[in-house]
Amino acid sequence: MQKVKGKIRLSGLAGAPGLAYGKAHHFRPVEDVTISRSSNNDPVKEQSRMDDAVRAARAEIAMIKEKVAHDANASEAHIFDAHLTFLNDPALIKRVSNAIGQGLNAEAAWSDAINLFVEQLEKLNDPILRTRATDVSDVGQRVLNHLMGRSNAIDLEPDEPVVLVAEDLSPSVTASLDKKAVLAFCTALGSATSHASILAKALGIPAVVGLGEQLLSLQEGQLVLVDGYNGRVVLEPDEAELEAFLKRKDTDRELAMMDRSNAFLPAVSMDGYRIEVAANIGSVADARDAVESGADGIGLLRTEFLYLNESNLPREEEQMRVYAEIAAVVGDLPVVVRTLDIGGDKSVPYLGTRNEVNPFLGWRAIRMISERPDILLSQFRSLLRGFAGSRLHIMLPMVSSVDELEEARAIFDAAREQLKTEKLVFAQDVKFGIMVEVPSTAILADHFAKQVDFFSIGTNDLTQYTLAVDRTNQRVAHISSPFHPAVLKLIKMTIDAAHRNGRWVGLCGEMAGDPLAIPILLGMGLDEFSMTPASIPSAKRIIRNYSKAECQKFAEEALRFEKTELVKAYLSSKFQCM
Ligand code: PEP
Ligand code: MG
Repeated sequence: MQKVKGKIRLSGLAGAPGLAYGKAHHFRPVEDVTISRSSNNDPVKEQSRMDDAVRAARAEIAMIKEKVAHDANASEAHIFDAHLTFLNDPALIKRVSNAIGQGLNAEAAWSDAINLFVEQLEKLNDPILRTRATDVSDVGQRVLNHLMGRSNAIDLEPDEPVVLVAEDLSPSVTASLDKKAVLAFCTALGSATSHASILAKALGIPAVVGLGEQLLSLQEGQLVLVDGYNGRVVLEPDEAELEAFLKRKDTDRELAMMDRSNAFLPAVSMDGYRIEVAANIGSVADARDAVESGADGIGLLRTEFLYLNESNLPREEEQMRVYAEIAAVVGDLPVVVRTLDIGGDKSVPYLGTRNEVNPFLGWRAIRMISERPDILLSQFRSLLRGFAGSRLHIMLPMVSSVDELEEARAIFDAAREQLKTEKLVFAQDVKFGIMVEVPSTAILADHFAKQVDFFSIGTNDLTQYTLAVDRTNQRVAHISSPFHPAVLKLIKMTIDAAHRNGRWVGLCGEMAGDPLAIPILLGMGLDEFSMTPASIPSAKRIIRNYSKAECQKFAEEALRFEKTELVKAYLSSKFQCM
């Protein structure tokens, strides 16, 4: 905790944007209760109690899903499909029934099975599966509460809206929060990409996460300011600070209203440069969100969703059907599709992935092609057919050398030749690009630019690889920042190289939607910003508020610093971050 003239400030991670001011209220969703272990004399009756509890939990989850679909949108509601699927898992049901059949009580049988499942998932050293472990615990607790006659309803005792303080929040608790009762939440654990943060963003509840254990020593009822834009919390602010904060909050509310009504206007800088503001999507539902949020196009379609949760490589027709659905939603807007970006960090046995010691440096994404060219060939064919009438752009992830680009290009040409021979309808005039997310590619950007139509900078990975910081490891999260001067220099080098060769360049990492980053990226000459659909209206407004020429000066200045904190302090002094 940092104490400045009587004020205490906590620094965490920006979980969901927005500002809030109110009294802290500690929330402990799961009290530590001992699960009784006893033998049952009537396994049939015990099994029926178990079935009732699962049925009741299923009904509750379906309601939560509906609430999220209504209050937020369909793609976030899918988180709860995974919860429902888990409750139908035959292996889980069998393990619990066997234990009950052998005479154990339902509570112990259920919690043993859940604990085992969670332990197995946590051991796998896989970020996606670690998220699933949180989901499994969440569902497990819900069922257990039913068995023990405890309510799953969230009962916030205070009668005025509060700032919720918790160690962590499960997805279902986050989804159940009532915006009228919860001004914001702050958690000791959590990351900007956890389900709690994703849901908070979608529900419009400001959140700061990863604040550390010190957060929990905060007193009940203590006044706090929560800045979900910058990941900061101030305790007991003085009068001047509070006044400035409340003013900012008013402006924030007015801006949000204005942004919504201007979402469909183009983003033109004050000196007349038209900038594309596109959306990052990963499903058909996201595509709808993107269009409704005023996106100028799709800047990144992540295609992994087609391959996860499958036991075989999806057939060409299946992939094509999904692409055609997305094409129908986006109509005339341009679409940039990224080919499969899976590897040793995600367990997909049919693709040939294995557990690796350093999965982010291993056999993943474009590196799969020499062993499995069939995967890319089938994806190219499906994309070309599914997006037959669209303004299709295809880009390769994780490229680190020109050979990979050449190899993939040859497969792309083969896919087109095949479709021509087969007399099938497919997209013409497709633009071919790469993601720049490995430092070697940024350094050699001049060479790459001669062989592609465009670049899209993936700052999430570019930061990870430039700073050698695992993007999923919370312990080193404080080192990871795209504002690090080395990352900024690589971004600038990439943009300059693209423009020298007459290519356009976009950026689709989280940084593209960050209000602190947008002006300097504009100043560096970025042509396209691609971000989560919810950030599009405010990003457009920020671009409209600056001239590219003045931002160029800010960018030049920012590139002079040697430390991340100095860059951020400089930018914060120049721009209002909202
Ligand atoms: C990135 O690395 O910046 C990016 C957009 O890709 P992903 O986050 O899917 O790795
Ligand atoms: Mg990436």
